[in-house]
Amino acid sequence: MTSNSMYNDLDPANRFLSDRFRHIPVTERSRMIALAKGYSNIISLGRGDPDLDTPGNIVEAAKRALDQGKTHYTDWIGIPELREAIADKLRRENGMDYDKSEILVTVGGQEAVFMLMLSLLNMGDEIIIPEPRYTSYDTAIEVAGGKMVPLITKPENDFQIMAEDVEKLITPRTKALLVITPNNPTGVVMTKENLEALAEVAKRHDLVVISDEIYEKLMFDGWKHWSIGSFPGMKERTLTVNGVSKSYSMTGWRLGYVAGPRNIIDAMSQLKYAITICAASISQLAALEAFTGPQDSLEEMVNVYNKRRLVTMMRLDRLGIPYVTPRGAFYIFPEIRKYGMTSFDFCRFMMEKAQVLLFPGTAFGEGGEGFVRISLLAPTDKIMEAFDRMEKALEML
Ligand code: PLP
Repeated sequence: MTSNSMYNDLDPANRFLSDRFRHIPVTERSRMIALAKGYSNIISLGRGDPDLDTPGNIVEAAKRALDQGKTHYTDWIGIPELREAIADKLRRENGMDYDKSEILVTVGGQEAVFMLMLSLLNMGDEIIIPEPRYTSYDTAIEVAGGKMVPLITKPENDFQIMAEDVEKLITPRTKALLVITPNNPTGVVMTKENLEALAEVAKRHDLVVISDEIYEKLMFDGWKHWSIGSFPGMKERTLTVNGVSKSYSMTGWRLGYVAGPRNIIDAMSQLKYAITICAASISQLAALEAFTGPQDSLEEMVNVYNKRRLVTMMRLDRLGIPYVTPRGAFYIFPEIRKYGMTSFDFCRFMMEKAQVLLFPGTAFGEGGEGFVRISLLAPTDKIMEAFDRMEKALEML
């Protein structure tokens, strides 16, 4: 059996599974969720699924679409009005000029991630990926036959991806660089200067850049989001992944997109047709409303997350637990080394003694050891209660 693999080679029931699947490890995230099933009265600060509802105008647009019988397959790259709206948004907010034929609508950013890896990576191609990171990338890279080259981002650099660290990892097999800003789980927002430096490295070594900007609207402390694809000479080598899940509280609608060079989008769209044909018609029309309708609910959501962020930082300060202030997304990634436990053991301890669900830093790559991820996706009073419980549990140590 592959170490930590989900599928046991010795179990005859697994004999029909492809080798590809035998090598996919059980994630630490799944282990924690499985553990949580044995407890009641849990406060979940674990998953990355917003607890806030999808704004009413978006829901109404979906209802209208249903009433109008918009329940058929659509153009497989996405309805033209939606791609047009995304192109407008990219021009207006991100400084990137795309034609609607350079945009592919996907089933969540997740499908875009998977198709990108299959479309870009040959067997053994290396892709430099920040660590800690959202590890669905790992599964996609593994299935595509690529080789992950983790770049450990450090709290002393505020978890920024530093160009000089990227440079050190480059080999003749390096094909791609992954940038996630704001990042899950660290909440780091890449600065313009650091992104510009990465862009220079990418151009110098002819790398293709995948820029995951799924949390771009969730920004705090006046920080600004920058898109690496908007920098000079980057359009031809950048694929920008985004979607409505996090910004508009629409995780269940499964709607994302990728913008990039037309030949790559064309190739991906062939794959997309074979996998899902098109994104759900109703979700596409809901997303059209998200992009073109009133945006005030977005500001309200950011205010809610910000209050929770401030409360969480205050409680961490009280415990003397260090963290890098997150400037985006809805996570905090504190360092828990002083308790002398592994990240997983710390989370198990909190589950057993406080019934609080946290995710171990190692759910985001081995470089996350010594940290845990707290998501800000419970009401403030629940976050306070979770910290009351955790404080009591820590007193037992
Ligand atoms: N990218 C990052 C960094 C994420 O954290 C997530 C989800 O948590 C996704 C992509 C996928 O989001 P979705 O498929 O809901 O658009």
